[in-house]
Amino acid sequence: MKEAEVIALNSRKLWIVLLVLVVLIGFMLVKYVITSRKGEEEFKTISMEEATKIFEKSGDYVILDVRRADEYKEGHIPGAVNVSNENIRGVQPEELPDPQQEIYVYCRTGRRSKASCSKLVAMGYTHVTNIGGIVDWKGEIEKEDAKEESFYISPITDEIFARIEGKSYKEDCTLEREELRYLHVLHRDQKNKEHEGEMIVNRHIAKDVLEIMKRLYEEEYPIEKIRLVDEYDADDEASMEDNNSSSFNFRFISHTNKVSKHGLGLAVDINTLYNPYVKTVDGKRVVEPVTGEAYTNRNGEYPYKIEKGDLCYQLFTEKGFLWGGEFESCKDYQHFEVSDEQMNQWYPDN
Ligand SMILES: [Zn+2]
Repeated sequence: MKEAEVIALNSRKLWIVLLVLVVLIGFMLVKYVITSRKGEEEFKTISMEEATKIFEKSGDYVILDVRRADEYKEGHIPGAVNVSNENIRGVQPEELPDPQQEIYVYCRTGRRSKASCSKLVAMGYTHVTNIGGIVDWKGEIEKEDAKEESFYISPITDEIFARIEGKSYKEDCTLEREELRYLHVLHRDQKNKEHEGEMIVNRHIAKDVLEIMKRLYEEEYPIEKIRLVDEYDADDEASMEDNNSSSFNFRFISHTNKVSKHGLGLAVDINTLYNPYVKTVDGKRVVEPVTGEAYTNRNGEYPYKIEKGDLCYQLFTEKGFLWGGEFESCKDYQHFEVSDEQMNQWYPDN
């Protein structure tokens, strides 16, 4: 071969190699654009600044921290739950029981949160928003110290469900278990002694009630007992006679097929013995608990009395709850509930 022919052959080979490379790179680029676009369409992305504005108002959403547990413990956005990116795979995590729930996802820089969002969407979550990295968060940081771990919200795990099934969660219960949340709190009694408390409430008010309980604890507002009504076999009278504070206990409103507010976990009773329920049934005065008769006199001096304007009243009413002490048709001094309007919005079919 002549030298010129060798060069020509080599350059032809080079051209072929180059052509193959260009086609390959092109193919990969197209594929990348398609998949990344697809991902972007399935979840929203907003800035941490926009997210901050959303978190300023209380609402029915979950803030999800997808960093590792040790990173989360060092400090996270207040109220955020932790499921690490590595642990989001295949099955819906227990911490996120409602696939329709509004979920705001973040990590340290925004890389893992994006990956987690894609995985959540693939698992069937419909309202997922990537809010990026906590490095851009300018708000308060919550740390996992002993006290923080004492105030938390949990879904109704199998373990908790076993405690309420057939009791407050009765056989004819029409409310989905997923609509309920378990709260773990601390509270102080009249002697300022600290106790652990447990309460089951509706998911829509879980965050608000937890905040209220935390404030009452911090401000040393006395609450004697916060136990699951199931410890009294879901017997309201027994729970009230023991001055127990509680919320969820499934029941229909008498002679209707409507679920009561306690049946939906949308009402909370506080210090029940000293704040009885006084009503008139068929012209007859009824006091619940029966042992609370002495405390129907609201001018008397006794412990655990709820009064209009006190801290308990303030915190609940600030969050939109109504106090039974202000009802027209009866007086239910222990009772705070969400308005009918709000309930009908959440449960239009009830
Ligand atoms: Zn009540």
